[in-house]
Amino acid sequence: MTSIVVHYSEIALKGKNRPWFIARLVNNVRHATSDLDIKSVRSLMGRLEIVLGPTATYEQVRDRLSRVFGVANFLKAARAPLDIEAIAAAILRDLGDIDTPSFRVSVKRADKRFPMNSMEIEREVGGRIKLARGWHVDLDNPQLTISVEMLTTEAFYAFGKDRGPGGLPTGVSGKVACLLSGGIDSPVAAWRMMKRGCLALLVHFHSYPFLSRASQEKVRELAQLLTTYQHRSRLFLVAFGEIQRQVVLEVPAPLRVVVYRRFMMRIADRIARANGARALVTGEVIGQVASQTLENMSVIAAATSLPILRPLVGMDKEEIVAQAERLGSFEISVVPDQDCCQLFTPKHPATRATRWAVEEAESHLPIDELVSKAVADAEQEQFYFPTVAAGQTLPAR
Ligand code: ATP
Ligand code: MG
Repeated sequence: MTSIVVHYSEIALKGKNRPWFIARLVNNVRHATSDLDIKSVRSLMGRLEIVLGPTATYEQVRDRLSRVFGVANFLKAARAPLDIEAIAAAILRDLGDIDTPSFRVSVKRADKRFPMNSMEIEREVGGRIKLARGWHVDLDNPQLTISVEMLTTEAFYAFGKDRGPGGLPTGVSGKVACLLSGGIDSPVAAWRMMKRGCLALLVHFHSYPFLSRASQEKVRELAQLLTTYQHRSRLFLVAFGEIQRQVVLEVPAPLRVVVYRRFMMRIADRIARANGARALVTGEVIGQVASQTLENMSVIAAATSLPILRPLVGMDKEEIVAQAERLGSFEISVVPDQDCCQLFTPKHPATRATRWAVEEAESHLPIDELVSKAVADAEQEQFYFPTVAAGQTLPAR
C-alpha cells in the first residue's frame, strides 16, 4: 500500500478561504516530509493523497503527520479500479495475514455519481470479505474498519486510521510573537497558538552576563521542539539584565516584577511590529503567581497596544503540566536554570499594583532608550525542521 490519505477538518475549512487553507496544508505536509522519499502530495476531492516512494515507510510519515496542524486523521491506503469486484479483490490481497474477530466496511463517496449508495457498497464489499475470511461483521464496534473512498475514476481502500493533531494549518491565522521563558507554561501557550494556525515568533529575555546562559540553552531546546510543528522558527534572545539593574535603582521593591513585565511587553511589541506579528502571546494564568492577578495583568498589558493572547488563562497547573508532558516540553522546562526572574526579584511583590504608582515609579527611567537598546542588541537564531541540509538555505520567517 503506497498511499496515505489525509483528511482535514471540514468545519474549519468552509467558505472562500477553503482553497487557500488547503493549499497551505498541502504545502505544510510537503515541508514536514521533505526529507523523506515522497513522490507527491496533492489535493484530491476533499482529501490529500501522499504517494510514498519505495524507501518511505508509513511509520515515518505517521510521525510527521502527527505534527501537522489541520490534519484530522489519516490512513495507509491503496488505489483500486472503481469496481466492486476489483475493490474487494484488492482488499483481500492486501489484508495478507491480518486476522480480526470483527470488522466492518465503511464507505464514503466523494463522487456521488457511482450508481450504488454507500450502504450498498459496504454490503457488497463486506459480503465478499466475510465470505472469504469468515469474519463477523460488527457495524457498531468493529475491531477492524476497512475504509473505502469512491472518487471519480478510482477508489482508495485502507485499514485502520490514525488521528492527526487537529487544529488549523500553520500560517493561516497570521503571525504572533510568543514570550517564551524556560518555564512550563509559555511553551504550551505558544504551541496552542500554533495549533490555531498561527506562526509563532519566539522572544526570550535572559540575564546573561548577570546570570548563566542556562535559560538560553533551555529555550533553544524548546524552540527546536516547537519548530517540529511549524518547520521554521525565529528566536529572539533579548538581554534583560541591564534593564533589571536600572529598575532596581529606581523602582520600589514591591513594584519591580510588574515593571520588569512591562518592559518585556514593550520590547516584544517592537519586535512583533518589526516582524509582522499582530499579537503577543504569554503563558499567563489568572491567579497563578503574584504577577498574574487581574490587577497586575492589566497594568502589564497597558504597556503595549497590541492584543495580548493568553491561551492558558483559565487552565489549572495540572492541566498545563499534562499538556506539556504530551508535547514533550515538560522535561525540558523542569531542568533547573537561572531564569531572569530570579535576578533582582523582591520577596514580596505587590499583588495589586496600580497603574499610576507603576507609571510614577517608571518615570525616572529612560524607558525608550532602554527598550531601543534591548531591541537593537537582540540576537536572532533560526530553527528548522526537518533539519536543513548543509548549504541549503530557506527564507527567514
Ligand atoms: P512560565 O512557566 O511560562 O515561565 P510562569 O508561571 O513562570 O510562566 P511568569 O514567570 O509570571 O509565569 O511569566 C508569565 C509569562 O511572561 C510567561 O508565561 C511568559 O510568556 C512571559 N515571560 C516570563 N519570563 C519570561 C522570559 N524570561 N522570557 C520571555 N518571556 C517571559
Ligand atoms: Mg516563569
